[in-house]
Amino acid sequence: MRSVSRIDEAREWRARLSGSVGFVPTMGFLHEGHLSLVRRARKENEAVAASIFVNPTQFGPSEDFARYPRDPERDTRLLSEAGCDLLFAPEVEQMYPEGHETFVEMGATAAPLEGARRPGHFRGVATVVLKLFNVIRPTRAYFGRKDAQQLAVIRRMIRDLHHPAVIVACPTVREADGLAMSSRNTYLSPEERRAATVLHRALSAARDRWTNGERDAAELRRVMRETLDSEPLARIDYVSVADPDTMRETDVAASGALISLAVKIGDTHLIDNERME
Ligand code: AMP
Repeated sequence: MRSVSRIDEAREWRARLSGSVGFVPTMGFLHEGHLSLVRRARKENEAVAASIFVNPTQFGPSEDFARYPRDPERDTRLLSEAGCDLLFAPEVEQMYPEGHETFVEMGATAAPLEGARRPGHFRGVATVVLKLFNVIRPTRAYFGRKDAQQLAVIRRMIRDLHHPAVIVACPTVREADGLAMSSRNTYLSPEERRAATVLHRALSAARDRWTNGERDAAELRRVMRETLDSEPLARIDYVSVADPDTMRETDVAASGALISLAVKIGDTHLIDNERME
């Protein structure tokens, strides 16, 4: 695996390739969720690139940019073992040199849920993803369903800006007790880690109701709230039953509806979701 930190080096790697290129953008501190995307990209493309970049423009002023976990040596080893060909790990100055002022402005898809809780977050995400795509020029780019609204926002941007990359959505990888893997899980104390299983339990409770025929979105939201309320360490940010493409709340949870939730456990913001199908 080649490891580069400069845009011109990444471009040079790309310029020599004529076949398909799969791309996995990440913020590092890799876990099985990230690696599942790299392995999928490996299967479907002739070459695979991953990026590690903790993108400052998607963090709010009171968020965890400075303390976001980092372990570049371990990440490099894991990517190489997963079959990655290029690691692009730029410094902030490479991605946002002095004078940078252009951003992707997102619309309604980015407004609710995470977008409402984290103003400017998806503007930062969309901008950095487009910038990374312009360097790597991927044939296919791989994103986790764990970040369902991010996936919807990126799909919207790709369509709206006529970008040629194919967006591939990959299943959420979970710990044995159901907790969705996340670099931020490392912030949790042992007690908080136990409490964090409530996210998956709340989704499962709603999913069971849906499987038994419940289609009233208000009732599914109520079931999620009830489960989350049973855990004293969890504070609810939102529960949602929405259209997975527009992220608009729905009254009826038809097949394909996205149920999602966000809670704070201690200082840690955790999200999870499931598709009803
Ligand atoms: P991040 O490093 O958190 O920005 O995530 C990079 C990519 O990995 C995004 O497309 C995420 O949706 C995806 N990802 C993160 N956690 C998981 C997971 N548990 N399962 C599948 N994909 C994930």
